[in-house]
Amino acid sequence: MIRTEILKAEDLDRALARTREVLLSGGLVAFPTETVYGLGGNALDASASRKIYAAKGRPSDNPLIVHVGSVEDVKPLVREIPEKAKALMDAFWPGPLTIILPKSGLVPMETTGGLQTVALRMPSHPFANAMLRNCGCPVAAPSANRSGRPSTTRFSHVLEDLQGRVDLIIDAGDVPIGVESTIIDLTGEAPTLLRPGKITIEELASVIGPVLTDPAILSENIIAHKELVSRPKAPGMKYRHYAPRAEMWIVSGETEDVAETVNELADERTGILTVDEHQDLYRCGKILSVGSLRSPMSIAHNLFACLRDFDTMGVTRIYSEDFSEADIGTAIMNRLLKAAGGNEVQAEELLKRTSETDR
Ligand code: AMP
Ligand code: MG
Repeated sequence: MIRTEILKAEDLDRALARTREVLLSGGLVAFPTETVYGLGGNALDASASRKIYAAKGRPSDNPLIVHVGSVEDVKPLVREIPEKAKALMDAFWPGPLTIILPKSGLVPMETTGGLQTVALRMPSHPFANAMLRNCGCPVAAPSANRSGRPSTTRFSHVLEDLQGRVDLIIDAGDVPIGVESTIIDLTGEAPTLLRPGKITIEELASVIGPVLTDPAILSENIIAHKELVSRPKAPGMKYRHYAPRAEMWIVSGETEDVAETVNELADERTGILTVDEHQDLYRCGKILSVGSLRSPMSIAHNLFACLRDFDTMGVTRIYSEDFSEADIGTAIMNRLLKAAGGNEVQAEELLKRTSETDR
């Protein structure tokens, strides 16, 4: 355990000065970004990166994103900046887009999980941006959660996961977006989306032309993959991610059928994830509205916090409605499906299966 100092982002001068001292002396700082909180260390210091993996409990082959304060800061970290990368930086930085490029010798392998490529992002959150312009080094930062748990989007959740494990936490309340950055890989033959986020594949394509989607992030593959994992075919395949402690199911179908099925199965220890417009349809269990159908951004904003709230309530099973995959909905369903370990089921199928196992 280490002593964790806590400073408010609005105490700006002090927070920036301490952040700089901690980072330049090899320590760790949890800080807000516009997507989720980050767990940062000096990206050029191999021992700081090792500390990040240890603080998170994350396997060290899972690469970190390197955060910068300007496009200029990218130059020493990469072998070159291709035209498409420049165009994306112009269009979307500062903002929730991570770009993968071939790394230079300056970036330690510890930071990139052993890869010859580096993931780069320039955040737009006012504190993160000021911090990166002031701290004197690029900052490697995965999400500020213990490995496997939902990313942190509220200060209290950062405290819960990282107090005693990092030197400094910057409190900026809730972060705005709530799901992690979009990741695009520009090191292969064609630009490829590796993680959906607020910036959509259509927006990326409008700037650089066609963008492929990595098969691993397609919903149907996340669902199918579960079957692979449940048979011991893919040993060591760590699959569940962003996960609450309870078993979780995404129930699809007409809203009325979903509500009817869930009402039949739910008891006091069941968590139900729904939306403002549907919450009155449910009769028992711990019912949480994640936001409004009229504002998909509100759903992204509250998603991880709701999953953590279910943990606090001690529910043993969670049923979630499914959501439109349009725009930020792609990112919402990607995180939700991963949190559920690929468990998605039609309402009538769920009822059938449950009555079979009860018999
Ligand atoms: P997190 O920081 O928790 O949002 O996770 C960072 C994620 O970025 C990793 O899990 C990888 O999926 C991705 N990533 C980071 N660097 C690279 C890289 N060089 N190549 C491919 N993916 C990367
Ligand atoms: Mg993460």
